Amino acid sequence: GATIELENLTKRYPGNSDPAVDSVNMEIKAGELVVFVGPSGCGKSTTLKMINRLIEPTSGRIRIDGEDVTDMDPVKLRRKIGYAIQSSGLFPHMTVAQNIALVPKMIGWSKSKTKARVEEMLDLVGLDPAEFHGRYPRQLSGGQQQRVGVARALAADPPVLLMDEPFGAVDPITRDHLQDELIRLQRELHKTIVFVTHDFDEAIKLGDRIVVLRERSHIAQFDTPEAILTN
Ligand code: ADP
Ligand code: ADP
Repeated sequence: GATIELENLTKRYPGNSDPAVDSVNMEIKAGELVVFVGPSGCGKSTTLKMINRLIEPTSGRIRIDGEDVTDMDPVKLRRKIGYAIQSSGLFPHMTVAQNIALVPKMIGWSKSKTKARVEEMLDLVGLDPAEFHGRYPRQLSGGQQQRVGVARALAADPPVLLMDEPFGAVDPITRDHLQDELIRLQRELHKTIVFVTHDFDEAIKLGDRIVVLRERSHIAQFDTPEAILTN
């Protein structure tokens, strides 16, 4: 795992009067699974996008293992962070296998290692590799697309996983299985995971600590599930 530090992290989108994220300070420990839970529009996605450097903060800093993400070269950042989102973000012109192989290829894995990994990841998300590797995203259900998105995020074995409502469209039984897999990856491989959801039960199940957010990412509570349930 890796530590993630947010220091006075702020994002103002042009034209909006209120900041989407306003001076957030937080330290996430290596190997910790932290869940952000809060209403739609409270800045959860914006926070994850800033950590993943998809958008620039207006001010403040983000450090992973002490290193400012703005100083990290893009390949190193891809090695460090796996990112899965609600809409899956799969490239429509690429097959399932090509989508999952994207980051491993980019960071220089061999063809044979990448191919084995693609199959392993499809198994992990409960999709038969023989049936699914050659399909295009449009040939999958919404839930299957999300599962491929999760497989892609995990493919290069990054120490940090950022997951933005990654199981929202997945059927309840598969979701339960994927939640258990995520907990296993964290425990066995010490991944640092930041998981966003609006589902309080999912937050309670997954989180070592839970960040309860109000508007503009104001932190109402940041504590263990046990402490949050008794408050
Ligand atoms: P959440 O993930 O908690 O639903 P978001 O981070 O998506 O919240 O959004 C936080 C706030 O920022 C919302 O008020 C939203 O309307 C606004 N916002 C998000 N993305 C943009 C954008 N690209 N341009 C302008 N405003 C945005
Ligand atoms: P390219 O010729 O650009 O490598 P391919 O379609 O052959 O494109 O494969 C893209 C990636 O998808 C490969 O790097 C490989 O790891 C993976 N891949 C291709 N075919 C399979 C397969 N049958 N099973 C699992 N992974 C595969």
